Amino acid sequence: MTASLLSGKPVADAMFKDLAPLVKKFDPKLVIIQVGDDPASESYIKQKIKSCDAVGMRHAHEHLAKDVTKEELFAVIEKLNGDADVTGFILQLPLPAHLVKDIPLFLRAIDPKKDVDGFTAYNVGKTMISKDFEHLPSATPAGIIAMLEFYGYGDVTGKEVVIVNHSNVVGKPLAVMLMNRNATVTVCHAFTKDLAGHTKRADILVSAVGKPKLITKDMVKPGAVVIDVGITRTADGLVGDVDFEAVKEIASAITPVPGGVGPLTVASLIRNTVRAKQRQLAA
Ligand code: NAP
Repeated sequence: MTASLLSGKPVADAMFKDLAPLVKKFDPKLVIIQVGDDPASESYIKQKIKSCDAVGMRHAHEHLAKDVTKEELFAVIEKLNGDADVTGFILQLPLPAHLVKDIPLFLRAIDPKKDVDGFTAYNVGKTMISKDFEHLPSATPAGIIAMLEFYGYGDVTGKEVVIVNHSNVVGKPLAVMLMNRNATVTVCHAFTKDLAGHTKRADILVSAVGKPKLITKDMVKPGAVVIDVGITRTADGLVGDVDFEAVKEIASAITPVPGGVGPLTVASLIRNTVRAKQRQLAA
């Protein structure tokens, strides 16, 4: 069997096509806060700006020096919270080492109505309630759900889904969103005993670790849908977690890296910004 390729671009293009008229109508504005010059962040921010331009969304970039103080960063967050013209903003992670321990405090300072990354406790909590309350969901899990829906795998009722990642940005919110859709979800991480024992049961397998070739062919159930979220920068370019060439022979569908989930994380961020503006106007 050779798996069908779940490319992210057609999904993102369809989302942008739906969003462009809403952007025109509601005129939202996204602001990206960047601290320092992390090369991966530079590349992600470029993609976000490119996608804003693709849908005609206003955007701005608050680029702060790498030695910015905690107090200065809080002041920028407060300024954006209070600026009525700013619909939503994100704090691009990672932050320089001296700010890392305060990340939960920076996220807590963001007005939940403007939290278009979906990282604040308020928006995480709403996602826990049910699918109907996923108003500003975490962008990468929302992108994965959009990917599954676009390619006809959106009905996950009763499916065994195994997620290899338990971070706050991928594994935990994705597990909740899949439970909201009645999947049977297993969440694995670095302390999981017998990882392959779990992954081999998956109808849908999601890996987001950042370890090339972590997921080998013998860890995948024949016919599974494999979503590779992991990104590792190598001399040969970006690679995912899955041994793509071998696994595509056994899976029924598989995402490439790059060009799989990545564009959908960005598209979900744009969609959250439009939704935030709609909700702000309705309040
Ligand atoms: P993270 O916080 O470092 O999470 C990594 C996860 O992998 C943790 O749950 C960790 O468990 C688990 N893990 C580590 N080694 C493992 C192993 N040997 N077996 C099983 N699980 C293991 O990073 P993240 O921010 O969630 O991102 C994860 C990956 O996804 C990265 O490669 C990142 O670049 C990528 N990513 C991609 C997108 C996209 O749009 N495509 C978006 C977000 C993230 P412990 O916590 O127990 O160590």
